[in-house]
Amino acid sequence: MSEQTKHKKSAIRVFVCSSCGHHLRLGRAYCGDCYQPTPVYNRLWAICSVAAAVTIAVVAGLLRSLL
Ligand SMILES: [Zn+2]
Repeated sequence: MSEQTKHKKSAIRVFVCSSCGHHLRLGRAYCGDCYQPTPVYNRLWAICSVAAAVTIAVVAGLLRSLL
């Protein structure tokens, strides 16, 4: 089994690096090959999950103040 095959199995890789074409791990801020910052959309799911957590906390706080 080659090193590349192992990598493909171990991680979800949707986007490629704009600098070197390396397949980026989803959610990584830097390319694993050339260490250039990855596009924002590669990290968007992380931003969304944080935003969702904050929204839930705020809604929960509002509901508690209403009751
Ligand atoms: Zn790269």
